[in-house]
Amino acid sequence: MLDADFLRRWLTTAAAAVDREADRLTELDSPIGDADHGSNLQRGFTAVVATLEKEAPDTPGAVLTLAGRQLISTVGGASGPLYGTLLRRTGKALGDAPRVTEAEFAAALRAGVDAVAQLGGAAPGDKTMLDALVPGADALATSFAAAREAAHQGALATAPLQARKGRASYLGERSVGHQDPGATSSALLFEALADTAAETGHEAAGDSEGTGGSGESGGSSE
Ligand code: ADP
Ligand code: MG
Repeated sequence: MLDADFLRRWLTTAAAAVDREADRLTELDSPIGDADHGSNLQRGFTAVVATLEKEAPDTPGAVLTLAGRQLISTVGGASGPLYGTLLRRTGKALGDAPRVTEAEFAAALRAGVDAVAQLGGAAPGDKTMLDALVPGADALATSFAAAREAAHQGALATAPLQARKGRASYLGERSVGHQDPGATSSALLFEALADTAAETGHEAAGDSEGTGGSGESGGSSE
């Protein structure tokens, strides 16, 4: 089960990853964009962490809807409303349950990704964040680690594509050969999710390493 603390940790870990990778995200946004993706997300996620600390929402859904609202109001670029919608719609799908199952979270995130596709009018293959979000959310039904790998591969696979949505699409064929910054940051979100799951002992179900000592899980296999 995932509680508000898990979701808060995810977003805090994501904020740290965005900080760490901000320069790289902005570099990716230079040849096919306006070189602001890293700074956009840095501003947004810093504000998300601050507002979560201040307001301390106590359900998973409330954490995500608050974070999504904050991203929309802080990030000026296309990615703000898109990521904001992702988190808000995911949070809304979770309702006000104090704890949710991994499967409920995966289904909610899939609804969030669908809302991003609807808002931006993009689909996988258009060289956008959806190229990482869709495979990542789909693989989350298997495990956090599988989602991380699927999103990572999805981001890498944007390089040979020609952009059909967003700023990069203005470049036409010249967008080919560059990895999409938004797909790269989406892969970071799944990386942060997998890290959070591993740190909090939620990877057991999909983890084939079988290291045994799973701490406080208390044998709930029946
Ligand atoms: P902006 O393009 O306004 O400068 P950012 O640089 O922060 O905003 O974000 C750019 C990223 O947003 C792109 O790399 C792409 O992944 C994503 N993006 C742009 N337009 C769309 C869209 N219509 N649907 C989905 N993702 C999009
Ligand atoms: Mg940009």
